[in-house]
Amino acid sequence: MTSAMTADLHTHSAFSDGTDSADELVAAARAAGLRTIALTDHDTAAGWDPIARAARGTGLRVIPGVEFSTKHPDADGRPVSVHLLGYLFRRDDPRIVAEWDRLRHERANRGANIVARLVDGGFPITLDRVREIAGAANIGRPHIARALVEAGVVDRVGDAFDELLHDGSPYYAALRSTSLREGVEWIAAAGGVPVIAHPRARDAAAVMTADVIETLVPLGLRGLEVRHPDHDDAARGELGHIADALGLLQTGSSDYHGDNKTLRIGQERTADDVVEQIIEAGAQTPFDG
Ligand code: AMP
Ligand code: FE
Ligand code: FE
Ligand code: ZN
Repeated sequence: MTSAMTADLHTHSAFSDGTDSADELVAAARAAGLRTIALTDHDTAAGWDPIARAARGTGLRVIPGVEFSTKHPDADGRPVSVHLLGYLFRRDDPRIVAEWDRLRHERANRGANIVARLVDGGFPITLDRVREIAGAANIGRPHIARALVEAGVVDRVGDAFDELLHDGSPYYAALRSTSLREGVEWIAAAGGVPVIAHPRARDAAAVMTADVIETLVPLGLRGLEVRHPDHDDAARGELGHIADALGLLQTGSSDYHGDNKTLRIGQERTADDVVEQIIEAGAQTPFDG
């Protein structure tokens, strides 16, 4: 039996590095014919209440989630970036609240640090403008990149990363991220459903081997994001096999960021029966439109 695919379980709003307001995100999801989305802003639940309000009465169901930026060591012990989706966890869980508090301060300091280095280097941007661009979101490199585009330093956000903001750049400052293993444990302990985001995208591919993924299952890992715009057919096939072997759920999602990326909401989807299993497993109920 094949299940219908009416869900996109990984989307961003202007509360992190997307461009859509809660209302715009709901409208985009409905226009794409979706029944369910998950809102998964980076390291914040600030969009949960606004999107619960925006979805009310529309028929769109919204699963509250967060995309945690975590690190996991590679074979040489070097920390590599891995993104972790957490769905339907209790947002007042003390360990998660404390970690977000730490990250908010860390991001503010680190963003100011990168901007100061760029200003010293003669680039005509200001911290005030970067803060304005970030709005309610914690400051990240995408906001600094937009300030650089606005100031005419580079033509596009991608160029800002390639030329000035990559992690080998003299202007770069690192972030002390959450550890992947702790992230999985904390989400599970808070009644949530942890799913590895795009395990074959960028850096993550090198560390998210089948063996490493297996070690996360006893900590509470429940799924892998198998279908994602950054995954080719070979990656999808391989991840599908790993998920089957370990009894993990397989999700699909667009990683929609509004106008910040060219991805269309709903371009990759999750099967409805998988969505029901995630809702069943989570401590919270979704926001029902
Ligand atoms: P940060 O968390 O502040 O270190 O910024 C990392 C974020 O920047 C990632 O989550 C991506 O969304 C974005 N990013 C990384 N590399 C690029 C790139 N080459 N072009 C556009 N966005 C990027
Ligand atoms: Fe993002
Ligand atoms: Fe991601
Ligand atoms: Zn994302």
